Amino acid sequence: MIRVGLTGGIGAGKSTVAKTFIERGAYHVDADSIAREVVAPGTPGLARLAQAFGPEILAADGSLDRPALAAKAFVDEESRTLLNSITHPLIGQRTQELTDAAPDDAIILHDVPLLVEGHMAPFYHLVVVVHTDAQVRLSRLVELRGMDPDDARQRIGAQATDEQRRRVADVWLDNSGTPDRLASAARQVWEDRLTPFRDNVADRTPVPAPLELVDHDPDWEALGERVVNRLWALVGQRAQRIDHIGSTAVPGLAAVPVIDVQIGVADPAAADDLIETLADGGFPSVSSAAAGERFHSSADPGRPVNVYVRSADGADVRFALDFRDWLIADESARAEYLAVKKAALAGANDDPVSYAVAKKPFLDRALARITQGLTES
Ligand code: ADP
Repeated sequence: MIRVGLTGGIGAGKSTVAKTFIERGAYHVDADSIAREVVAPGTPGLARLAQAFGPEILAADGSLDRPALAAKAFVDEESRTLLNSITHPLIGQRTQELTDAAPDDAIILHDVPLLVEGHMAPFYHLVVVVHTDAQVRLSRLVELRGMDPDDARQRIGAQATDEQRRRVADVWLDNSGTPDRLASAARQVWEDRLTPFRDNVADRTPVPAPLELVDHDPDWEALGERVVNRLWALVGQRAQRIDHIGSTAVPGLAAVPVIDVQIGVADPAAADDLIETLADGGFPSVSSAAAGERFHSSADPGRPVNVYVRSADGADVRFALDFRDWLIADESARAEYLAVKKAALAGANDDPVSYAVAKKPFLDRALARITQGLTES
């Protein structure tokens, strides 16, 4: 089972993507309809709202009068908080119930307009963002959905920015073309990414990373942050620290395009305790771990990630951080390391173990140089 979060600004075209996924068998958990369901006539949710904001928020037929509620609840921060304190737990509980009821092999589609605003991205295996320029959204909302232009503009302005959405997007679908083009891009994501990802999680199959050096990608920083946040959401207090390490964490340095992350835990038993959690979360365990650590890799065919689970107070955790910081700070160290990587790759014959072995002497010397640097300064 994998959970996919789908979001985008109002009018971006989420419905087209949701429909495409649902036609292919996605298990749909619809945030909008849950939000309506928990305050439907006769529910405890609606009774609590009436108690908090007065009977004026009820229509003659006993249903929620949304404009009347808005007039009461959106006047100040306190009222807004009161509204959220009533609806959010009910929405959360219902969402959880529906998610728990999904079959084991489900691709759960959680369609959430305010996913970014609610900081929910780390709780999904994958986040799909549908993007359309605000200007185009505005005209679609006015012309096709008949919204009042000022209302549409106000809603667009109150939502997250494109930049905020981009930072959490694992998949970015552009909807500036026709709906057919968007649907076809969504189909491709379903086939090439979601289906194999779901299968890999079920079979505990990690995806091999490509063994090649590529120029530093400025998106690696955000990608690293996303992976770190996702791991925190998975393991919570069982981790003492989680850090993006390795060359993809060093601005400017060419790297094998894999996000390396280490999780520092209390002891080896704590690492064992994470095996199933990480596997369910999209990071199955790989058998070839070095002594004293656990090694996991991403099951997502679109995102190679290595996760090292180590004792937080061990030398390896310290070295990974120091080595990264040394490379960030020292341009000539970066140049040396790049040359070492190129030579190692040339002799590795596509074998990641040979590649690692060939780099090892440089890492050992780096440890000595970093230690020396620390004593001298
Ligand atoms: P969302 O669910 O993200 O708020 P919708 O999927 O309802 O947005 O799309 C908003 C409006 O724009 C709808 O009326 C929809 O039919 C229309 N629409 C969506 N995609 C396109 C497109 N590529 N070209 C033209 N109109 C579109």
